[in-house]
Amino acid sequence: MQTSVSTALLRLLKNQKYHLVGQHSAVKRCRWLYESLVHNRPCYKQKFYGIRSHQCVQMTPSVLYCNMRCRFCWRIQSGDVAFKWDETGPSRWDDPETIVEACIEAQTDILSGYKANPKVDKKTLREASTPRHAAISLTGEPTLYPRLGELIKSFHKRGFTTFLVSNGTLPDVLTQLDTEPTQLYVSLCAYDKQTFTKTCRPQIPNAWERLTKTLSLLSSFKCPTVIRLTLVRHVNLSHPEQYARLLSKAHPTYVEPKAYMHVGASQLRLSYENMPSHQEIRDFAVTVARETGYNLLDEAPESRVVLLSDLDQPLKLA
Ligand code: SF4
Repeated sequence: MQTSVSTALLRLLKNQKYHLVGQHSAVKRCRWLYESLVHNRPCYKQKFYGIRSHQCVQMTPSVLYCNMRCRFCWRIQSGDVAFKWDETGPSRWDDPETIVEACIEAQTDILSGYKANPKVDKKTLREASTPRHAAISLTGEPTLYPRLGELIKSFHKRGFTTFLVSNGTLPDVLTQLDTEPTQLYVSLCAYDKQTFTKTCRPQIPNAWERLTKTLSLLSSFKCPTVIRLTLVRHVNLSHPEQYARLLSKAHPTYVEPKAYMHVGASQLRLSYENMPSHQEIRDFAVTVARETGYNLLDEAPESRVVLLSDLDQPLKLA
């Protein structure tokens, strides 16, 4: 990890169970990996899309870097704690092959902790030792990594599928990816520019215009696309009709209205009270579905998320 980032900050990330990889990447055990191994309870992405939770690596090539400072983000942001750093990126970027290899090793390390656990199903653990999916989503903005297309390709070369989650503020990076992910997520966390500015606190000029440009280009992707709405009570959980207008223009394969979760560093900026119930998300999703003509295909109350699409059923990716 680069020396300009203080060792105290790196220690904090390690205490939060981030497995740091190279200069700027990380893997973290997803809650659903644990649930899947110990309680046979997979995550909603398995239910919706067939992505097997116990074979999923949750990683980021940009653990400390982003061009926004969303209030609901679980990432530690510069100034949240005693440390400040340049969030635009590290002084040097690692090679994609090295990152992928190190992420797989980190996942092996994570899994080694389960070998002695009598509650873990041995067959599931054996399968988990061959990960098949990379969620490029853990934290930070992955489009800041200048070799993102190569990173995706490196995962695909090893038989992985990939979900890429972006804040959509770098449309040129997304449209110029030499390899598309298996599924592309773009976050839309506001129904207009003013709400966007207050909720996402962009650190670059014209971020809203850049995001809406990405939305207008979404239908040019060959892979399935998802617009994720992270909804925070008293912040951006309102005006479903305005969200619906933006969604209708973008015409993604799916829309995932999802509740903000009061976890990680977001607890420094928001209160428990800001976390919507599943019923609130469902009611919101029903209005969005009515306004867009999308179908309500599925839902996962434990993750407070609903799946909308103009398809009759989701495409299974694995
Ligand atoms: S865009 Fe993503 S990583 Fe960046 S601050 Fe917002 S939620 Fe966090």
